[in-house]
Amino acid sequence: MKCNYHTHNTFCDGKEPIEAFVKRASELHFDHLGFSSHAPVDFENSFAIAESDLPAYLEEIKRQQSLHPELQLFAALECDFVPDVTHPFDYFRAQHHFNYLIGGVHLVKPPHGSDLWFIDGSKQEIYDEGLARLFDNNIRKAVTAFWEQTFEMIETQHFDIIAHMDKIKMHNRDRFFHEDEQWYRVLVDHAVSLIKKYNLIVEINLRGLYKKRCNTFYPSPIIIQQLAKADIPVVISSDAHKSEELELFYDEAVKAIRDAGIQQMACLKNGQWTSYSDF
Ligand SMILES: [Zn+2]
Ligand SMILES: [Zn+2]
Repeated sequence: MKCNYHTHNTFCDGKEPIEAFVKRASELHFDHLGFSSHAPVDFENSFAIAESDLPAYLEEIKRQQSLHPELQLFAALECDFVPDVTHPFDYFRAQHHFNYLIGGVHLVKPPHGSDLWFIDGSKQEIYDEGLARLFDNNIRKAVTAFWEQTFEMIETQHFDIIAHMDKIKMHNRDRFFHEDEQWYRVLVDHAVSLIKKYNLIVEINLRGLYKKRCNTFYPSPIIIQQLAKADIPVVISSDAHKSEELELFYDEAVKAIRDAGIQQMACLKNGQWTSYSDF
């Protein structure tokens, strides 16, 4: 079985319409394809789906499903979590039916002020500038704020899959901290224990690799080993914004998952998360 539950399209910041992803996924013999546009936010932005577009988004996924019975499609959102800024994830579930929700942190709220630290995107200088301006270049304080926001998301929001859980490392590129430092490992260990406690699925996200912004998966292989040990379910996510990105590094992810000793992956069947071993 071949599944991908994390993709973007022209309803949000993806570069191609839903139709293009469906066509490509069908050609690549995927069994499951999930759409996860960035959930609406109440501030000026260029990445999220507009709240008024949600009915059309869901309708288009339904229409494509009727044209492509060979592939199972799912409608979801990738919800941002910023305390006191973003909608609670239940806000979206209350309005429409989504098959699942992905939760992730892209904007970190510093302890003081209302500006947010954008840790994603293509520009390293934005990460560096935010680190200096919002955290006085104190990397430990900044990275801890990212993980604490992640802990709060896990403990307060209802969702299914945690997105690119260690994205904070992306623009670091081993310049400000190393992932084997003790204080960092303590934060990761706590995240893994909360993920286990709240029965979340972790995605092995491939976007950093094919965009060449990172030399490994989100999360790093050392964390994938922790997930294996804790028996936490995983999925492979392309986080594709173009249809040509749907299968990039998929085989490498399968190998990493097998190498970590994980025998089963998560998949959504009849509205329930279950597992499969033929991947
Ligand atoms: Zn994301
Ligand atoms: Zn995404």
